Amino acid sequence: MEKRIYNFSAGPAILPEEVLLEAQKDLYSYKGSGMSVMEMSHRGKIFDGIIKQADADLRKLLDIPDNYSILFLQGGATLQFSMVPLNLMPPKNKADYIITGSWAKKALKEAKRVGTVNIAASTESENFVRIPKQEELKLDPDASYVHFTSNNTIYGTEWKTEPEVGNVPLVCDASSDFLHKKIDITKYALIYAGAQKNIGPSGVTVVIVRKDMLDRSQDSLHTYLNYKIHADNDSMYNTPTTFGIYIAGLVFKWLLNMGGLDEMYKRNVEKAKILYDAIDASNGFYKGTTEKDSRSLMNVTFRLPNEELEKKFIEESKKKDFEGLKGHRSVGGIRASIYNAFPKAGVEALVQFMEDFKKNN
Ligand code: PMP
Repeated sequence: MEKRIYNFSAGPAILPEEVLLEAQKDLYSYKGSGMSVMEMSHRGKIFDGIIKQADADLRKLLDIPDNYSILFLQGGATLQFSMVPLNLMPPKNKADYIITGSWAKKALKEAKRVGTVNIAASTESENFVRIPKQEELKLDPDASYVHFTSNNTIYGTEWKTEPEVGNVPLVCDASSDFLHKKIDITKYALIYAGAQKNIGPSGVTVVIVRKDMLDRSQDSLHTYLNYKIHADNDSMYNTPTTFGIYIAGLVFKWLLNMGGLDEMYKRNVEKAKILYDAIDASNGFYKGTTEKDSRSLMNVTFRLPNEELEKKFIEESKKKDFEGLKGHRSVGGIRASIYNAFPKAGVEALVQFMEDFKKNN
């Protein structure tokens, strides 16, 4: 078999090897059907089985009750920045947004085109180094919903628990930490995630929406932008991204086989601790970019003493077959994305490399 590298990319990101190998096995002819999943009708019996199984397995992973619909959409999380306000803001046309990074700002920008937005909190003046505390949130009890970003992919911060928002529907962009731990889905009115970090290939976006929210979707909306249309048609109003849903389904199965999300969380905590401990033990050579109690388990961000050393670090890391360690172009530095599928051995290899690099520089 060809060798695989340690892929620290923030997304599209590493997928479980077992999933890739199974997809490879079935690529040419899916389970004896004589065709690949890419080639079959989305309305045929086989694909119907694939999407129903993906729905059932995701429900099992997160204990999603029947009063929620799972939608497999396209357009990335970016389209959700628009679909959320277009569908959920009426009739009051006002919403609260909590701003913890660049993606939250992008969500905010689209919401402003639809209605009145209250910024319930923002840590931008502190360069997004932390998640705001509950007592900092200036929530409007009459808002249509509160939007937050559970994990900030670029800044490397995450919410440890959901913001408390009373009876106002809670909406979450979980693109970069979806399925990294068990959450109580009943706290959410809607949660969405682009697939290309923890779910599967880019192109699929998972939206889990409480069914009472669908009553807000106005008939005047453009058809594709209407959640109710997608829910009523079981994500088959138009041709869904069939291959992406198939891979997502394999990832859900993989998570179930691994022991579910509590087991996954245990592994994620362990992996992140190895890396953060190495940063903290480096006597300031490596500096975490965020406050400790806001540290992300998925995207570990840090800096070196200067940009020249950071450049050298990235160049030398490539010789070790590490990929994707360069921080987002808007912030620089180093970012190690260690999503569900990233192996502990890769984290240990990175830590060894960091120690060697420090010694030699
Ligand atoms: N939200 C978050 C938290 C993200 O990390 C990203 C992508 N990196 C997006 C939204 C945008 O996702 P997409 O490219 O799928 O539109």
